[in-house]
Amino acid sequence: MSDPRLAAGLRAAASKPCLLCGRRAYVGAVYAPDAASQRRVCAPPGKLRMVVYSLCRQCFRLPDKVRRAEDAIFAQVAADADRN
Ligand SMILES: [Zn+2]
Repeated sequence: MSDPRLAAGLRAAASKPCLLCGRRAYVGAVYAPDAASQRRVCAPPGKLRMVVYSLCRQCFRLPDKVRRAEDAIFAQVAADADRN
């Protein structure tokens, strides 16, 4: 882990509730969308955006946790965009 902002983000994620169900966090994770999905997380042009989140123990065991997390992140970004 060489990026200090990423390390700080992961530490912050540990204090957030689970992205999928709101229970207490078990692990911090980073979602780095591919180039095609960068627009969906509102990355500024020419920049890459990563989203730090956390999962509880139960959700971390789900076989499709990555897809569920992506869906939740896209839904959250869309909701944030609607509010602004
Ligand atoms: Zn959970």
